[in-house]
This record gives sequence, C-alpha cells and structure tokens, in this order.
Amino acid sequence: MTLATDKTIEPRWRQRTIRSLLKWYKQENRDLPWRKTRDPYAVWLSEIMLQQTQVRSAIPYYERFLRALPTIDELARADLAVVLKLWEGLGYYARARNLHSAARQIVRENRGKFPNDLQTVSDLPGIGPYTAAAILSIAFDQDQAVVDGNVERVLSRLLCIDVPPRSREGRKVFRQLAENLLARGKAGIYNQALMELGALVCRPRNPICSSCPLQSLCRAALAGQQQEYPKKLPRRPRPHRLVAVGVVWQGDRLLIARRPNHAMLGGLWEFPGGKVEPGEEIEQAVVREVREEVGIDCAVEEKIGTIEHGYTHFSITLHAFHCRYLNGEARALGCSEWRWIQLEQLSEFAFPGANKKLFALLSAPPNWTQTAPPGF
Ligand code: SF4
Repeated sequence: MTLATDKTIEPRWRQRTIRSLLKWYKQENRDLPWRKTRDPYAVWLSEIMLQQTQVRSAIPYYERFLRALPTIDELARADLAVVLKLWEGLGYYARARNLHSAARQIVRENRGKFPNDLQTVSDLPGIGPYTAAAILSIAFDQDQAVVDGNVERVLSRLLCIDVPPRSREGRKVFRQLAENLLARGKAGIYNQALMELGALVCRPRNPICSSCPLQSLCRAALAGQQQEYPKKLPRRPRPHRLVAVGVVWQGDRLLIARRPNHAMLGGLWEFPGGKVEPGEEIEQAVVREVREEVGIDCAVEEKIGTIEHGYTHFSITLHAFHCRYLNGEARALGCSEWRWIQLEQLSEFAFPGANKKLFALLSAPPNWTQTAPPGF
C-alpha cells in the first residue's frame, strides 16, 4: 500500500507541483462572480451555495441574493421567509437557515463584521472546517488548507493514496497532505487552483490528463491508474420512504403548513402529510397526518398523482390526494404555522422540491370545491 505522508513528499516535487498549479490557474481560471471580490460575506455566501450546488446553477442565485441582501446587516435584518424565498430551488434549505442565523450572530457578537479567526468562524452555524478554511484563505489570505471532494480526488491521484478519503483514517491523511502541500503566503489562490483543477481537469470520471499541468508529477497518471483513485468506501443502499400528502380544500382555498424550523426542510411550506406507517393504507395516512399536523379532519376525495423524489440520504415516493375539509379548526400542532390560500398564491411561498413537483399537477381546484361547506 502506498500511503503518502509528509515523509514521502519530496521538497522539489512539492515546489514543482505548486508552481505548475498556480501558473495553470492564472491562465485557465473561470470568470466567476465570487472571484471578483474578497468581501468575506460574498465569499461566505458563495461557499455555502457551492456546498451542494453546481457552479452554473449557483451563479444566478448568488447574484440575486447579493442584490437583495448585499450586507451581513441586511441579511440579519431580513425575515427568514425572505431568505428562504431567495433560496427556493437550490435545495438543502438548512444552508439558508444557518446563513441567516449566523448573520444574526455576527451582528450580535461582532457588530456585523465577519470574524477572521478559525475558531470563531468554525463556531458559526453551518460552517464546517472546509468552509471556514476556504473563507479565511480566500478573503483574508490566511494559510488554511481546504479539503473538499475536488481536493481529495486530485491529491489521491497525484500521490496514489490507497485510503478512502471519507474513512476516518482518510480524513486525517488528506488533511495532513493538504497542509503539507499548501502554498504558504498564497493559500487563497492555491486552494482555488487545486479545487479548479479538480472541477475542470481532474474530473471524477474522465480526467483530462493530457491538459493537466501536473501530468508529469502525477503517480496515478504515470501508472495509468487514474480511475482507481480516489478509493471509495463500500456503498450502503439508500433507504426509501412512502409518503402521503393531502391538498385539503375548503371552498376554493387550500391548506398549507410550515415545517418547524428545527426539522429537515425547516421553515419551508408544504401540503400537510408525512410517512405512511407499516400496515397503514395510504389514504388513512393522509387523514392521520393532516389531523396530527394541523388538527383538522378531512376526507380523501381523489388521487392527484405520484411523485418520485431523491434526497441525499433517502428517496421518497409521494402520493398526493385532493381532500375535502370536514371539521375542526386548523392549529399548529406538527407545524409552525398554517394558511388557507388560493391556488394562485402558491408561488408566493417557498416549498421544497417534492411539493413543487406537485404544482404542475394542480392547474385548477377540483370541481367539487365549487360547493363550499356550510358556514364557510
Ligand atoms: S494527471 Fe490526470 S489524474 Fe493526475 S492530477 Fe492531472 S488530471 Fe488528475
């Protein structure tokens, strides 16, 4: 097993690697909006968006977000609903909630000035070791090494590291390597160059070694073993869940509920519903979930459709039904708030992806909603 550590990195190889990488980045780096600034707030925002979003998809969100909330103070003052609406469609909404609460913490504890020490930055909600190192190196030029998926892939190939980067041992090995290879004094540019090489050249499936500035220095390329790195942990099957939701109508208005802030997809709106319990009919689950979430009784009338949706750690099949309001007064039992709204108002609220797929199937209220229940 080849295990690269500081002992196996020769100083000359290290120098050539850094020099070649920086020269390549100077010529080849992409013109991206967050590279035009060193404002820590903008760098922070871009790093959070890029955590689980492709560069091309993140650009319009990044620009729109900064136009709407150009400073940490303005982000802190904004209502969470505004922040979530700006984030709508990007997914992983915990990022937006954490961004918002971190901005409030920065205003409270540091008068709105982004902190510049590793411990304080790492203590902010939603900021892990990678993001803290990225912000501090890019915005403040501090000698902090970053380790993300791109960096892991490049390093594992460059040095033929036989340890999976996502294993406990791998995390230590790759951190140590990244620190040993860091171009001190130029960490911001160096980190971006390494990540850019991983994104553009040393790609997961088909690395373009013939265009790589490190080809003559890369052990995997020299051995023709690029595809064997990085080593992977054995895959675990992704669990699947059966979910039932009700679009509950009272006259021509339908009911939406807001997920509690601490829950997954917290702060977003949804049609009430939830997991189908073992042995339970899907329609029974709708009635039970609506009662548990908003405290009203409803009757399932007709199927709207079935949606397949994937999250990072599980996937769902979501069965949606038109339901008729029967009785009870809506209350926030398993949600943080609820509203009766017109169908046309749906776009004013931030919904998660699976619910949004349902919008396409909801072009008009069902015919039977014309007859409003007595007293409504
Ligand atoms: S030579 Fe190929 S495998 Fe090696 S770092 Fe460059 S792109 Fe990756």
